[in-house]
Amino acid sequence: MSPLIGGYVGRILRVDLWRKKAVGEPLSKEVAVKYVGGYGLGGRILYDEVPPWVAPLDPENRLLFATGPLTGIAPIAGRYCVITKSPLTGYFGDANSGGLWGAELKRAGYDVIILSGRSFEPIFLFVSDGKCEIHSAKQYWGLNAREADRAIRKDLGERDAKAATIGIAGENLVRFAGITNDEANRMAARCGVGAVMGFKKVKAVVVRGDKSIEAADPDALKKINREIVRRVKSDQFLLSFTKGGTPSLFEMVWEIGDVPAYNWSRGDFGGQGDPAVPKISYPGGYEAILSGIRACHNCPIACRRICSVKEGPYAFEDNVEGPEYETQAAFGPNCGIEDIKVIAKLNDLCNLYGLDTISAGSTVAFAMECFERGLIDTGDTDGIDLRFGNGESAIEIIHKIAKREGFGNILAEGTRRAVRIIGAGAEAYAIHVKGMEIAMHDPRAAQGIGVHYACAPTGGRHTEGLTLAAEMAGDRFSTEGKAALAKSVEDWAAFYNAAGFCHFALEFNAYTKDSAIETFNVVTGVALSYNQAMLIGERIFNLKRAFNMKHGATSQEDTLPDRLLKQTAKSKTVCNLSAMLPEYYKIRGWDMKSGKPTVEKLLQLGLDDTVKDLWG
Ligand code: SF4
Repeated sequence: MSPLIGGYVGRILRVDLWRKKAVGEPLSKEVAVKYVGGYGLGGRILYDEVPPWVAPLDPENRLLFATGPLTGIAPIAGRYCVITKSPLTGYFGDANSGGLWGAELKRAGYDVIILSGRSFEPIFLFVSDGKCEIHSAKQYWGLNAREADRAIRKDLGERDAKAATIGIAGENLVRFAGITNDEANRMAARCGVGAVMGFKKVKAVVVRGDKSIEAADPDALKKINREIVRRVKSDQFLLSFTKGGTPSLFEMVWEIGDVPAYNWSRGDFGGQGDPAVPKISYPGGYEAILSGIRACHNCPIACRRICSVKEGPYAFEDNVEGPEYETQAAFGPNCGIEDIKVIAKLNDLCNLYGLDTISAGSTVAFAMECFERGLIDTGDTDGIDLRFGNGESAIEIIHKIAKREGFGNILAEGTRRAVRIIGAGAEAYAIHVKGMEIAMHDPRAAQGIGVHYACAPTGGRHTEGLTLAAEMAGDRFSTEGKAALAKSVEDWAAFYNAAGFCHFALEFNAYTKDSAIETFNVVTGVALSYNQAMLIGERIFNLKRAFNMKHGATSQEDTLPDRLLKQTAKSKTVCNLSAMLPEYYKIRGWDMKSGKPTVEKLLQLGLDDTVKDLWG
């Protein structure tokens, strides 16, 4: 079959897990052009195939793995996306990951995999050269994600294959379980996608292939490749990002009050003068555990950190990846933990169990605050002393969460549901939006983050519309113009994520907007303008919004935790959401009362079929 347009394989793999039947089908060119890939394309399929009465942990929920046209072809664009109805929020869920799995899926012959139904027994899929085999995974059930990744590939005799795997957390339906790849060093972490995979009894999706996917203009793409490498190697910021990765940003964003501490309640880390900051930041404490760097597919930035702690109570396997900024913040200041070795150990445990470190760190921080305030005590926590800063206890509770043991079984439900069990005012300490624990950037330090978090379809993400960089160039504390800024950043992010770009490629200017569009055009062979790309992004964002509205979301849920609206921290301000929200709705073309995209907006975006669902 000839390619659909450059960059795509042009095939979707559909696997019915009830019947153990896999069939390939063509990818519609019209749908690809309109929704691009990733959570655009996957979101369209989810919208069409999952009705509101299907619960996240229902066999009729879908689990999709979707690449973009640039995945595995353009530089700094190795991403794939997992899409499902989220067990954490009950609404649209997606998570994305880098590494090598997305590129290999396309080489194996597919742009997208759709899983429906549920297997009776544990299985894994092996997708290779356009074929899909379904194997028993009984012997791998119960293994951690890294063990399973290695064992399955070894037993298949396919060491070069790439596996997307769940750990024990996914098997146990922990609501913030993720799906790992690259031997549990990368993770599609957010929204509980791993719990859906565990519910479907799929331990792994293994891909292997030799298919070459051509760009529409291969010579022009070679030139772009050279230019991107030149740019990365000559830009001072990108060079320092290569050297230090995301942990090197920690001190800078700490200084401006962007990093939450002690469950978003304080503006210091370790007391006056923040003595704990250098202990966990790079350079500083982090440098002592850093042993190497690693890159995703065709990425000259190479921001992934290899860490080593070879001895002592926090030792872990050598040559595996260490904490990124989000993890460093979530288990560091937000849990009050001052030892980078403990944070690195927690990071590795989360990778092995297949737990999202943002939700895991936030949930532990929530429990720590409940403990310190006397809402729970050691009688509730299986004897664990859950005070802020107690790293041993954090490790202990992570084991219990993944295994759903004792108090861990309550926390495995995520903060919103844990509140209902703990009761007695715990709601005040649950820092989530729509049930999902928010990313480690404080809306009190840059107001636009607040309106993004409040309205993001998946409940507050750092890769899908973070306004921080743009706000740092202006007045971070002003609300003026922030609604428009959030919309613009979100629409652009929706487009580039769907295309397969890594967030950092755009966030840190390895690509300009123009060169990103040029790359998209060179790969696909279309002639898209920036404005058209923004329209696609807006369509995708509103499709996700429409899914939520169809599945029962209300405008009352477009809000932030009270703490961020009423209590100050390091930045000494609160997030003035009410000053931005009406303007944001207006700019978005959303109905002021219900929050639904208006009929006019849906028609303008070519989402005609959603009108009936939302407006009758
Ligand atoms: S910048 Fe980092 S996360 Fe992004 S593709 Fe490169 S190595 Fe992967």
